[in-house]
Amino acid sequence: MGRITVLPETTKNPITLIGRRAGVCWGGDVEDEEKNYRRGMDCIASNHGRTLEYVNVEMILDGYSARVIREWYTHIGGAPTRLQSSTRYINYQKGFDYITPPEVWKDARAREVYTRAMDGILASLKELEELGIPREDSAMLLPLGMATRIVDRRNLRNLVDMSRQRMCTRAYWEYRELFKDLCQELKAYSKEWDWVVNHLFMPKCDVSGYCTEKKSCGRKPKAEEE
Ligand SMILES: Cc1cc2nc3c(=O)[nH]c(=O)nc-3n(C[C@H](O)[C@H](O)[C@H](O)COP(=O)(O)OP(=O)(O)OC[C@H]3O[C@@H](n4cnc5c(N)ncnc54)[C@H](O)[C@@H]3O)c2cc1C
Repeated sequence: MGRITVLPETTKNPITLIGRRAGVCWGGDVEDEEKNYRRGMDCIASNHGRTLEYVNVEMILDGYSARVIREWYTHIGGAPTRLQSSTRYINYQKGFDYITPPEVWKDARAREVYTRAMDGILASLKELEELGIPREDSAMLLPLGMATRIVDRRNLRNLVDMSRQRMCTRAYWEYRELFKDLCQELKAYSKEWDWVVNHLFMPKCDVSGYCTEKKSCGRKPKAEEE
């Protein structure tokens, strides 16, 4: 499975930083970290979302499929940025890692079909290389299931929004796994992050009290039933 590395540029104490920034505008004592922390908690409780945007998260996401990263890129609130492994300069003719979905993995026949398809792509990439086709062209064959790596930067508000969509049972399974990995890494980063993840990251039905999805998993009643 994939791996997330939280980079040192990530805000260590997000709640305190929120309070320190808000304090500037409230004429507060921003030198006192305890007051900053309490003020940060007030901002969060009052849902002053803009203050969450000062909290920076920089990380490397490695070994997730190009497909799930394509979905990751849809979360554009707050103008996040990222770099992704090149399909021109990396030599995939040597072979590429790919994700095998659990449903495929547990069925021996399905696994064989899936592996054969991936091996076939690799064989074609090598053949095209021998024919002198540039890598930027043969890269068109690379599958969405191939593993990729990105360096990503976004703010806390974006991640809170992301949790609403991607902790939903209806979200794509690999994204839910990825988000679980993200929660685990951020919780380990500092005590304040542990609190933030436990209290702010949740699926949208936990916020509204009902399900907004057309096909509900049944965890909460549908909006109309509610
Ligand atoms: C079950 C499920 C199925 C899905 N299926 C598909 C699919 O088939 N195809 C597909 O493309 N996507 C699909 N998605 C992804 C989904 O449609 C969104 O693209 C994704 O959730 C990111 O958008 P967002 O608004 O949640 O997040 P962000 O873009 O990060 O936005 C967060 C919040 O910021 C604000 N915001 C962001 N941009 C603007 C703006 N321009 N103007 C004003 N306010 C803004 C809004 O309040 C928004 O709610 C699916 C998601 C789920 C959970």
